Amino acid sequence: MSSKPLLGFGFWRSLAEPLLPDPAWFVDAHWAASERQMVLAYLRQGRPLQQWMGQSWCRLGCGNTTLGSADLTDGTYCWPEGLAHYLEQHQLRLPAEIIHHIRAQSAFPSAQAQAIAPYCPVDNRWWLTQRGWLDAASDFSTGSAASDQDLLRRHERNLLDYGPESEEAQQIRRQLLENIRRKWQQ
Ligand SMILES: [Zn+2]
Repeated sequence: MSSKPLLGFGFWRSLAEPLLPDPAWFVDAHWAASERQMVLAYLRQGRPLQQWMGQSWCRLGCGNTTLGSADLTDGTYCWPEGLAHYLEQHQLRLPAEIIHHIRAQSAFPSAQAQAIAPYCPVDNRWWLTQRGWLDAASDFSTGSAASDQDLLRRHERNLLDYGPESEEAQQIRRQLLENIRRKWQQ
């Protein structure tokens, strides 16, 4: 069993992790369909590594709240099960490094993926530096007025404990909360 950390990508910002990238930065309607399909097929072969509590929701506001709760791996990288949704439904393109890695495999590396121990650490440092190519922002809605208002209520009552963190993280969270509030004021 390998204990080298996997390299994370495709994890999106949330109130708990505001420093992660926003999927809105990665949209590319002109990405070649053939390459998109090749990447999608690869992502879907990922081996489930760990399951988290609760389903991921679409940060781009399409209302899909069942994007999955597993992290997947190919033995080198780790990505969330829900990432395929963004490529398929919202025209996201992944950074060149990831596409290069996928192209370099002659077939999905199943044996390497199987060799990874559950709860292997994931190193997100590279992913945290990714800024995509668009100056855009998700509205960050959880997909329904009820769940967004529940989120705002829990935040305002200080029921969400974020632990110690940087000023930058706090500033991005304020912006995310503002986006949610604005969405339901319209
Ligand atoms: Zn969506």
